Amino acid sequence: MQRYFPAASKAAVQQLVSNLIAAFHQRLNTLSWMTPATRTKAEAKLDTLKVGVGYPETWRNYATLAIHHDDPLGNHQRALKFEYQHQLAKLHQPVDRGEWWMTPQTVNAVNLPLQNALNFPAAILQPPFFNPKADAAANYGAIGAIIGHEISHSFDNLGADFDAQGKLENWWTPADLKHFEAAGQQLVQQYDQYQPLPGLHVNGQQTLGENIADVSGLTIAYIAYHNSLGGKPAPVIDGLSGDQRFFLAFGQAWRSKIRDAALRQRLATDVHAPANFRALTVRNLDAWYPAFDVKPGQKLYLAPDQRVKIW
Ligand SMILES: [Zn+2]
Repeated sequence: MQRYFPAASKAAVQQLVSNLIAAFHQRLNTLSWMTPATRTKAEAKLDTLKVGVGYPETWRNYATLAIHHDDPLGNHQRALKFEYQHQLAKLHQPVDRGEWWMTPQTVNAVNLPLQNALNFPAAILQPPFFNPKADAAANYGAIGAIIGHEISHSFDNLGADFDAQGKLENWWTPADLKHFEAAGQQLVQQYDQYQPLPGLHVNGQQTLGENIADVSGLTIAYIAYHNSLGGKPAPVIDGLSGDQRFFLAFGQAWRSKIRDAALRQRLATDVHAPANFRALTVRNLDAWYPAFDVKPGQKLYLAPDQRVKIW
């Protein structure tokens, strides 16, 4: 595995993750709407978060699974049974918080509420998301925003149902939950206006949890990027400021191509907004406006009172 995902890359991503977690702590401490009781629980959850980077610490043993090149149906049936037995064997055992739910070859990332854990497979830890040789602004804008997105799932409407140990327990006070839900409604309206195909809109309610995570992730990544500068001004590279490169990297990470039919299907079923609309998350950050001198009337402008801030 080290051949494909070197130890140096793993260490660099682990550093990014700790910087993102530190920025999230910082943000929790400055939030005006969260009550101290809820904040204490949120801090505990952040402190016990188990983060997997690249690949699992221990590899699962497949020795007892028989695979034959001339028996595809049998392979499928044996694989199903093998997986079933793997799940059944967990009964009466302590939870393995280090278990992975994605292969290292998957370009994705995931928050696992039952384990209070995150998985960042090796395949997403490469350009355009991450490059150990790239400038910090690019890494924070791309993979940093994704790390922040996954962390924030621990603190959304689903994450609120699981405590620091992954046990089913709602740790939000009713007042905090009410504020969180009100901020969410503003985001529902924002995404409801997006129209990927003529007459067909993004469903703001269906995609709410993911849109909250996108806004939070980018916000936290921006704070972490600025912390990483250690009080020094960001260098100008290729004529672009640090903030410009940060936002550009975020946009570049969401480049995609999709046929209309597939897009139509996703709009009806996917809990994520289409990639090009996820790139528009930038409109909610105040820092976006001076970075590119975005003015009222322009496509990527949002009036200050319509910018949604949750974390
Ligand atoms: Zn997500």
